[in-house]
Amino acid sequence: MDLAFTKEEQAFREEVRQFFRDNVPPETRRKLVEGRHLSKDEMVTWWRILNKKGWGVSHWPTQYGGTGWTSVQHYIFNEELQSYPAPQPLAFGVSMVGPVIYTFGNEEQKKKYLPRIANVDDWWCQGFSEPGSGSDLASLKTKAERKGDKWIINGQKTWTTLAQHADMIFCLCRTDASAKKQMGISFIVFSMKSKGVTVRPIQTIDGGVEVNEVFFDDVEVPYENLIGEENKGWDYAKFLLGNERTGIARVGVSKERIRRIRDLASKVESAGRPIIQDPAFREKLAACEIELKALELTQLRVVADEGKHGKGKPNPASSVLKIKGSEIQQTTTELLMEVIGPFAAPYDVHGDDGSNEAMDWTAQIAPSYFNNRKVSIYGGSNEIQRNIIAKAVLGL
Ligand SMILES: Cc1cc2nc3c(=O)[nH]c(=O)nc-3n(C[C@H](O)[C@H](O)[C@H](O)COP(=O)(O)OP(=O)(O)OC[C@H]3O[C@@H](n4cnc5c(N)ncnc54)[C@H](O)[C@@H]3O)c2cc1C
Repeated sequence: MDLAFTKEEQAFREEVRQFFRDNVPPETRRKLVEGRHLSKDEMVTWWRILNKKGWGVSHWPTQYGGTGWTSVQHYIFNEELQSYPAPQPLAFGVSMVGPVIYTFGNEEQKKKYLPRIANVDDWWCQGFSEPGSGSDLASLKTKAERKGDKWIINGQKTWTTLAQHADMIFCLCRTDASAKKQMGISFIVFSMKSKGVTVRPIQTIDGGVEVNEVFFDDVEVPYENLIGEENKGWDYAKFLLGNERTGIARVGVSKERIRRIRDLASKVESAGRPIIQDPAFREKLAACEIELKALELTQLRVVADEGKHGKGKPNPASSVLKIKGSEIQQTTTELLMEVIGPFAAPYDVHGDDGSNEAMDWTAQIAPSYFNNRKVSIYGGSNEIQRNIIAKAVLGL
């Protein structure tokens, strides 16, 4: 297998890079570099710029607005996007529900939802997890009962990312309580503005609010909002989760963070010399970079093998990408904490007694470190990924 990029691919990389240089709002980029949260407006503004260029839903089939790029071009695009860095397209719409709709939805649903997803006219959120049904997702209890031409939905979802911004939700609901647990689930989409939907924020350890509890109390949803067949929702969820895990390696994000570690470690001093000159620190950084290189090569192998596991079926190696990608992301945030040492936890960034020289840029490093504990949990925890590898790859 040839891992070198062709001249055309290198030219494509340069074109993508130049587009980001010319079009990503500088304030948006700065916030991402510093690990800060973006506002809804900042994200939507950028996604619309991307969509106008024709790159908003790049991996979709061309008839729905995709680019027709090769797998290698997609790989390059994502790497450049993450490492520039620029906000990634809203995964809930573009990578999750969009592909489910164009693969399993009917023509009317495709016409109604896909263009709005591409232009983020609707902000989507993912209603899968429930209290007690995270890893054991198939045990979910949120119930959708058919009454004439409507579903009546009751139950609770949790950890629903950015539901406070959402216009639409895609939900796994139990529609046949008598069937085996995986068989009685349906995939239903509906408006978050529906009567009976309540969103309650969950404060995370970094002080942010990016996850929520969502309650459904006799929510009326048109029957036609069912995607695919009734009671086949588990199949669509597996398809969706496989796609989620492939995107989760985030090689470009870790590359950008390593650049930042190198930059800061060359400036911040410890024991009279820049930290980058400390042999113990260098060893840790090198180990992290080697792991990242191995992850990158594994991802390229997955890219090269795309399609070999059956149409629309994700490569089981996506679980490996999820585990290693999340571990490396966490290591990079640990190294950043190590670089800034005591400035990671200033109690007063602007203290005037001279005892605290913390700068504004250090203030975000500890919250970002804590926030990144999530990456080994969401998208299916790393323990669950190991179980998948044991079954699907090793046949245990
Ligand atoms: C920041 C964040 C954002 C999220 N966003 C969303 C979202 O938008 N929409 C959504 O639907 N969900 C979302 N989730 C939920 C996420 O998918 C679940 O948290 C995850 O699947 C784990 O489920 P749980 O939290 O219920 O933990 P549990 O399933 O209770 O697991 C607890 C611990 O036990 C381990 N464990 C459980 N079962 C096994 C087993 N069989 N073998 C070995 N170990 C096991 C787990 O690995 C974990 O360490 C998000 C989660 C986080 C942290």
